[in-house]
Amino acid sequence: MKPRNRRYHLNLDLNGVIVLVAVGVLLPVMLSTAVGIVALVIADDAVGIVTGVLMVSFAAAAAGSALITVVLTRRKSRLARLQADLVANVSHEFRTPLSAIRLYTQTVLSGRVADDPERSRECLQTVMRETERLDALVDRVLTWRASSKGSMPLTMETGPIGPAVEDAVERFQRMVAPDEVDFSVRLESRIQVNHDVSAISATILNLLINAHKYSAAEKRIRLEVHDVGDGVMISVEDNGIGLPASEVQRIFQPFYRVKRHDGGAIGGVGLGLTIVQHLVHRHGGTVSVESEPGAGTRFTINLPEAS
Ligand code: ADP
Repeated sequence: MKPRNRRYHLNLDLNGVIVLVAVGVLLPVMLSTAVGIVALVIADDAVGIVTGVLMVSFAAAAAGSALITVVLTRRKSRLARLQADLVANVSHEFRTPLSAIRLYTQTVLSGRVADDPERSRECLQTVMRETERLDALVDRVLTWRASSKGSMPLTMETGPIGPAVEDAVERFQRMVAPDEVDFSVRLESRIQVNHDVSAISATILNLLINAHKYSAAEKRIRLEVHDVGDGVMISVEDNGIGLPASEVQRIFQPFYRVKRHDGGAIGGVGLGLTIVQHLVHRHGGTVSVESEPGAGTRFTINLPEAS
C-alpha cells in the first residue's frame, strides 16, 4: 500500500502572526542584542568585538525579517478582507435589481395586468430600467478589474465629446423613471478631444448614477459640457446629501464608502469614483469635487483639447 502524504497547514490570522513574531523572534532578538552589546562593552580583544558585532548584526537581521513578515501578512489580510467585502457588496447590489425584475415579470406573467395595457407597459419599463442598472454594475466591476490589472485597452479617437455625452445621457435616462428626477443637459462643446467614446460615456454615467443615488426625494441633476481655454469641462451637479470636507479626498480610493451618521444605508461597492478618476487620468485630464453637506455636490472633469 502506498504511503499517504499528509500535509499540515498552519492557518494563522494576523494576530496569530504578531504573537508568533513577538514570542518566537522578538525575545531571542532582544536577548542576543543585549548579549552583543555587553560583549562589545566588556570586549578587550578582537574576538570579543567580532562576537559582539555578529550578535548585534544577527539581531538586526532577525528583527528586519520579522518586520517584513508582519507587513506582508497585514497587506495580505487587508486584500483578503477587501475581496470578501467586494463579493458581499456586489452580490447585494445584484440582488436589488434582480428582485425587482422577478417581481414585475411575475406580475406580467400572472395575467393580473393583462387588461391594463398602461400598467403592463409600466411593469416592462421597470424591468428594462433594472436591467440597465445591472448592466452598469457589471460594467463597473469589469472596468475596475481591467484597470487594476493595468490591462484596459482604450480605443482613442479624435473628435468632439458630444457623442460620448449623448450615449451616457441615453443610458442614464433608460435607468430612471421620467418623473423621478429633474434632469437637464447643456451640451455646448465643439473642440476636438482625443478620447475613447465608451470610456468617457462610462465616466459620465458613473457620475450621473451617483448624483441620482446620493440625492433625496426631489432630485435635481445638471449635466453641463462646454469648452474652456484649452479643453472641455464636464460637470455633474446634484442637490443631494453632499459630502463632509474631510471625505472629499478619500472618496476616490478603491472600495472607500462614506459612513452615514444617520445609520441609513445606500447600496454601492465603492468603485465608481475610482474608475472615474482612473479613466480621466488615462485621458490626461483631471477630476475635482465641490460639495456642501445637505446642499449638494458638483463633480468637474477637465479634458485637454487634442493637439
Ligand atoms: P459607491 O457609490 O459604489 O459607494 P463610489 O466610488 O461611486 O462608490 O463613491 C464613493 C463614495 O463617495 C460613496 O460611497 C459616497 O459616499 C460618496 N459619493 C459619491 N458621489 C456622491 C455624490 N454625488 N453625493 C454625495 N456623495 C457621493
